[in-house]
Amino acid sequence: MKIKPAPVSLLLACLVAVGALLLSCAATPEAPPSAKFNQSSIKITKALIPNGRFGRHKTRFMRPRYITIHSTQNFGGGADARTHARLLQRGGLKSEHNSLGFLTWHFTVDDHSIYQTLPTNEQGQHADYEGTGNRKSIGIEMCENAGNSRAATLDRTAKLAAELMRRYDIPLKNVVPHQRWERIRFDDGQNLGRKNCPHFLMTDGKPGPKWNAFLAQVKGHL
Ligand SMILES: [Zn+2]
Repeated sequence: MKIKPAPVSLLLACLVAVGALLLSCAATPEAPPSAKFNQSSIKITKALIPNGRFGRHKTRFMRPRYITIHSTQNFGGGADARTHARLLQRGGLKSEHNSLGFLTWHFTVDDHSIYQTLPTNEQGQHADYEGTGNRKSIGIEMCENAGNSRAATLDRTAKLAAELMRRYDIPLKNVVPHQRWERIRFDDGQNLGRKNCPHFLMTDGKPGPKWNAFLAQVKGHL
């Protein structure tokens, strides 16, 4: 029996389909700094969690659609941005309830520095287990160590959020507090509700005037 060759158009259609599938699985590279970033006063120190370890052993790529703002609630004198970055780099923040076994996030900010621990095209574990907050947002932690200036930390965080908005074309309405995300625990499905985080920008546990003032600050840096 003679097999009839498939028409060229069908072969082409198959190639296009396979190509699209491959592209959808591939990583979107991290967005480059915006044109405005070069003149800005913020400096980002990269201190990435080692690739393949401590929460980066399973890489899940992400196209960020949101920016989630947290505060560390770590009031120790030395708990600045650098200390948190070093902690994540050596797998020092374990989580028995999430899918990775570790907490991970993208940036930590204090009154004088910003440390980046995860690439912005990789999902972290900082917000809501397997929810949208982790699947689609860049996590920023603000430090609360003793002696750290909250005003300077907020200003630096606002500048960073504005820069990330420019890089990823994220609208201001998608800059959200951790409180926005409902937390359904990964290992047992327990609903933990919403966290009062960042607590010093919430009003009775919800976004109110203090959160709006922060958003205005972000807008001011666009
Ligand atoms: Zn938080």
